[in-house]
Amino acid sequence: MDLGGVLLLPGLVNAHTHLRLTHLCGKLRPTKNFVGWLARVALRSRLSSRAALQRAIADGARQLLAGGVTAAVDIDIEALAAETLRESPLRLVFAHECISLDPNRAAQTALRMMKLLESQEEVPLRRRHGLAPHAPYSVSRELWQALAKRIAGKKAQEKRPPSPNNKPDGADTAAASTASTTFTAPMPLFLTLHLAESADEDEMFRTGRGRMVRWLRLFRVLPRNWQAPRCSPVAFLEQTGILNTAGIAAHCGCADAADAAILARRGWTVAFCPGTHEFFRRAPYPLAVLRSAGVPVCVATDSAASNTGLKMMDEMRRLAGMFPTLTVREILEMATTIPAHAMGWSADIGKIAPGYCADFSAWTPCPEASQLDRSWFADPPPQCAATIIGGEVVWKKSG
Ligand SMILES: [Zn+2]
Repeated sequence: MDLGGVLLLPGLVNAHTHLRLTHLCGKLRPTKNFVGWLARVALRSRLSSRAALQRAIADGARQLLAGGVTAAVDIDIEALAAETLRESPLRLVFAHECISLDPNRAAQTALRMMKLLESQEEVPLRRRHGLAPHAPYSVSRELWQALAKRIAGKKAQEKRPPSPNNKPDGADTAAASTASTTFTAPMPLFLTLHLAESADEDEMFRTGRGRMVRWLRLFRVLPRNWQAPRCSPVAFLEQTGILNTAGIAAHCGCADAADAAILARRGWTVAFCPGTHEFFRRAPYPLAVLRSAGVPVCVATDSAASNTGLKMMDEMRRLAGMFPTLTVREILEMATTIPAHAMGWSADIGKIAPGYCADFSAWTPCPEASQLDRSWFADPPPQCAATIIGGEVVWKKSG
């Protein structure tokens, strides 16, 4: 196949997006008020019809392909994206979201999420499913603990040799035990969450005051007897046991050295979303703090509701602009091998190498010199000429 003079890169890997919000691109103005933005997004997505959400999901997936993305983690709700993107050529991990601050519903919600997960079909290197408990401020301590317990139970169960008599942890119902026989994911359960994203979240956990607490109280979702843990959101999650299973933590822009040490110890990868970071005009991102603690950091687009679109190249360009000392190799790794590893696919995608899947993204301009340098990310922005997944051209620039 002759693509002309193009630069061939591995297919890009987007470790954090919400495709169901693609239709909100440009609808909400950049702001410093994260809580206000969250309230508007929640309202708008509640007002969106199922058909509108499905169009947004399909449109988002097309935008990923057109931007050289070959694999992504999408935060899904009620498996709508999994259903909508059944035929998409993208390699997808659907992380099923849950939000609940009601401690009395924790056990029930955790069970419901595990059942939802077990009902989803896994296809090796094509479809994976996992959990996305939303964020420290939107999930109760009891639900974090219940999920941590169920995930630990699942891990223990998967270590045992397969037997038709194996029951899921607790074996609560007949339905759960039937479902367990169809769930054969060979890898540990995939987990992702939002963490230490805003100053509002940080203030809520450290002091029990601020905009986030006022908003949650206004909507009567924060239990009356809720008390601030008086520590960072990362330290709070560490207490619940949820960090015992490694996963992808989105943002972590408020993480300090102690938080970074916890994430490194627990084997977590952080997904930095430069577009979202700019949208909320946040303080400089603590990339050096995370990396020097040993936390792998990748780049991701987040949703189009807090970004200018879903282009991984834009995120890499922003990253290059924010951190002049990052090398081309480091920038590319943050969009390929690091997220591929966090998704559990490090032996198959993220690299152009023998034995790896034939996933490529082709770019113009093709650099003149044999050595790619940082200036390639500067203006004019590189354009995706074609996207190839498993040897098939799944997107090609027309003309
Ligand atoms: Zn997100």
